[in-house]
Amino acid sequence: MRKVSIFGATGSIGQNTIDLISRQPDTYDVVALTGGRNIKQLAQDAKRLGADVSVTAFDDCLEDLRAALAGSGIHAAAGQAALIEAAARPADWIMSAIVGAAGLAPGIEALKQGATLALANKETLVCAGPLVLDTARQHNARLLPVDSEHSAVFQALVGEDMASVERIIITASGGAFRDWPLSELAGATVEQASNHPNWNMGQRITIDSASMFNKALEVIETKEYFGVRPEQIEVLVHPESTVHALVGFRDGALMAHLGAPDMRHAIGYALHWPERLDLPVSRLDLAQLGQLRFNTPDEDRYPALRLAREVMQRGGLSGAIFNAAKERALDHFIERRIRFPDMADAVAAVLERFEAENGLIDAPLTLDNVKQTDHLARKWVDETVFQRAG
Ligand code: NAD
Ligand code: MG
Repeated sequence: MRKVSIFGATGSIGQNTIDLISRQPDTYDVVALTGGRNIKQLAQDAKRLGADVSVTAFDDCLEDLRAALAGSGIHAAAGQAALIEAAARPADWIMSAIVGAAGLAPGIEALKQGATLALANKETLVCAGPLVLDTARQHNARLLPVDSEHSAVFQALVGEDMASVERIIITASGGAFRDWPLSELAGATVEQASNHPNWNMGQRITIDSASMFNKALEVIETKEYFGVRPEQIEVLVHPESTVHALVGFRDGALMAHLGAPDMRHAIGYALHWPERLDLPVSRLDLAQLGQLRFNTPDEDRYPALRLAREVMQRGGLSGAIFNAAKERALDHFIERRIRFPDMADAVAAVLERFEAENGLIDAPLTLDNVKQTDHLARKWVDETVFQRAG
């Protein structure tokens, strides 16, 4: 039996992961499942899969979780320390599918026990890429990409020499506002931004797709994971979301990865790697699709892409700052305190303020320093937002 744990089990990626492992109940022994406030789902899955431990991220949910698991023999726990403890429990394969920077510390802990970490949480590499990769090397742990674009690149690289790679192209659907007039973006509502044309995902990543903050994070994730230079990474808007990524080689060849927009493909690839096993994803009918379109993203529409380039050039802790400021700006947009285009402005302002006021951006890349910059970046976004409101 393979021991597996799922962090962020109640979310979109977590539920897709559970769908796959529950199809082969005799293959997997579930160690830990974690979630947030959806205690009903968390407890139900923990019981169905026979987990050893079930953890909610929030202390005030512990009573409910205990009650829901009463009599099951499954250990219930809550809070940050409990998440770390769960990540240290021996497992062969651990899914990192918490949303946001909150996924970083449990991910690092999972690597420290030498487990294979299936990384859906892109924030882990954006905030602390070199630290995460060093930890994996030191503990002989493996990091497998789950983000669909990065899984696609990873698959296109099988048997290839990184030295022959010229460029990596990741695609973007263009999100909910791809065809909107620029002048109307200021009036975009949370509901409109939460409606993805092709993929069915959690709300936060869906809004990040409309702003392309998601693609911005993924560009940085590509640089960190594959160790390429920023100028080797390209983004193409591809409305059909069928080609997930392409790798260009020195001889001019392009290897593309195509598939239906279903995260169970990338999750399943990471679950069965290095084998390929049957997956319950629909098969593409290219003749029916008829055409595949590609175009260059307009950085006036998607300023997040320009910010990602600046972050990659800047290095240091700028990735952690960028991500934290983005997360907080997104909170404010969801809570209807700022408009859609204000998110990118807030992130840009916080990056500039770190440059001007604070040496922290060049501090060593440790988990403590990431947490400190993360905290300050969120505080500064709040200050900008509340100043404007006041
Ligand atoms: P989601 O919002 O559906 O689920 C997030 C999970 O994290 C839930 O289990 C939630 O309870 C938990 N969580 C939330 N806040 C937490 C906190 N502070 N501490 C601990 N746990 C917390 O998100 P999702 O769409 O499944 O995305 C998860 C991650 O995977 C994100 O990093 C996202 O960028 C990445 N990703 C998602 C998709 C997708 O198709 N949904 C695709 C590629 C990458
Ligand atoms: Mg992606």
